[in-house]
Amino acid sequence: MSTGAIIEGRTGPWEMVLGLEVHAQVISKSKLFSGAATAFGAEPNAQVSFVDAAFPGMLPVLNGECVRQAVRTGLALGCTINRWSRFDRKNYFYADLPAGYQISQYQHPVVGEGALEIALEDGSTRTVGIERIHLEQDAGKSIHDLNPELSYVDLNRAGVALMEIVSKPDMRSPEEAGAYVATLRAILRAIGACDGNMQEGSLRADVNVSVRRPGAPFGTRCEIKNVNSIRFIQQAVAFEARRQVAILETGGTIHQETRLFDPDRGETRSLRSKEDAHDYRYFPDPDLLPLELSEAFIEECRASLPELPAARRMRYEAELGLSPYLARLLTADMEQSVWFEALLAETAARQGRPAREVAEKAANWMTGELFGALNRLGLGIGQSPVSPAQAAALLAMVADGTLSGPLARQVFELMLETGEDPAAIAEARGLKQVSDTGALEAAIAEVLAAHAAKVAEYRAGKDKLFGFFVGQVMKATGGRANPALVNTLLRQALG
Ligand code: ADP
Ligand code: MG
Repeated sequence: MSTGAIIEGRTGPWEMVLGLEVHAQVISKSKLFSGAATAFGAEPNAQVSFVDAAFPGMLPVLNGECVRQAVRTGLALGCTINRWSRFDRKNYFYADLPAGYQISQYQHPVVGEGALEIALEDGSTRTVGIERIHLEQDAGKSIHDLNPELSYVDLNRAGVALMEIVSKPDMRSPEEAGAYVATLRAILRAIGACDGNMQEGSLRADVNVSVRRPGAPFGTRCEIKNVNSIRFIQQAVAFEARRQVAILETGGTIHQETRLFDPDRGETRSLRSKEDAHDYRYFPDPDLLPLELSEAFIEECRASLPELPAARRMRYEAELGLSPYLARLLTADMEQSVWFEALLAETAARQGRPAREVAEKAANWMTGELFGALNRLGLGIGQSPVSPAQAAALLAMVADGTLSGPLARQVFELMLETGEDPAAIAEARGLKQVSDTGALEAAIAEVLAAHAAKVAEYRAGKDKLFGFFVGQVMKATGGRANPALVNTLLRQALG
């Protein structure tokens, strides 16, 4: 993926301008205005209250937990929190919206402006402005592909609480859009406001794209609805920007419209133009009072926030001396960084050394060996067959010379298979490194005796043969000889 924001057209360079509206499902046992459950994967229409089905006379009751999560999210993104906000009705007709309106926040959202810092591949950073965050209900789902003559409606999602997080049009490349969503997702997961599961639709984005000559005023935008993976967001943005450039370069104009991304074809297609846009006739919902937040409530939300990924990343660099690359990798996901910190604590304790001295080795092992293995096995960090304590035991055996690098890798493979401790595995399979001087001297003597001619050549000045002797000794000891010790003893024997 190119990091450059510039598209080279036939008539010169163009720049893309991107703004995202991210819909994040709030983690909450019940819906925004009803007591119905929200768990994913239930039987159709098993989680629908009379409120969600819009039975006459039913009244919405605001779920305080959803408000708390929206405020926590706003605070985590450095946003202003509006002490006074209001719920409005957004009126439109659709089969999966029984009330005929969605309750949302229009002019007065609960959260105002803020900013999110994103880090790019090349190590540079950008700040993306947040315009607002408001609370709203999700709609139900129409199902058209189960029966050739009928459409079905599943209202399980109807009324589920969503936060709509609206960015400013501050992104300039597919990479920036991807980094924005990944960073936002990590924060939402870290604070427990949204599980970030894009396959299940807990996090999805409407992507606004326009193009312009560098430095010119913004062009007309198109909005790509409901894109549900970071890769698709990047593909959709890249396709859409090129499509707009092609139109502009042949003398055409862009008409504001809503488009859909087709992942199979990698292209966007028109859904409806702005001219067909609904007039939603927003008005304040008369069933709900305005939402007023106390300072105490906001402070309680603030106090409940854990250390955020950006702060963690800076701490890893400053306190642990990790490279920006490793620090970013280990803080991209909360579960992974919790695992890393457990590994680090165990490693430092076992080796009786300060965390800072063992951090880089532990981080390299985790991001290299462990992530590699989990990737291969298709497992998340939560399903790792090896615990942080077991991993620390393995690293300690390397540090004290019991295991060489290659032996440690063999032991690790067996740990993945059996879940056993490394000491038990090394003992049972005879995988310990040989650091016994007597045994190694004997092996060296045998090797030198068997290759008398080469020994003579070496002594006559053919230095390069040293590696050959090391190799022979390693072979003779089944790869278990301590390499540093072999080096020293060989030099003595040959010298
Ligand atoms: P609407 O209410 O019509 O959706 P908004 O002002 O809420 O319009 O903007 C929606 C999103 O579109 C925001 O994320 C914003 O950053 C983005 N956006 C606005 N103008 C542009 C533009 N010219 N190009 C790309 N994105 C834009
Ligand atoms: Mg909008």
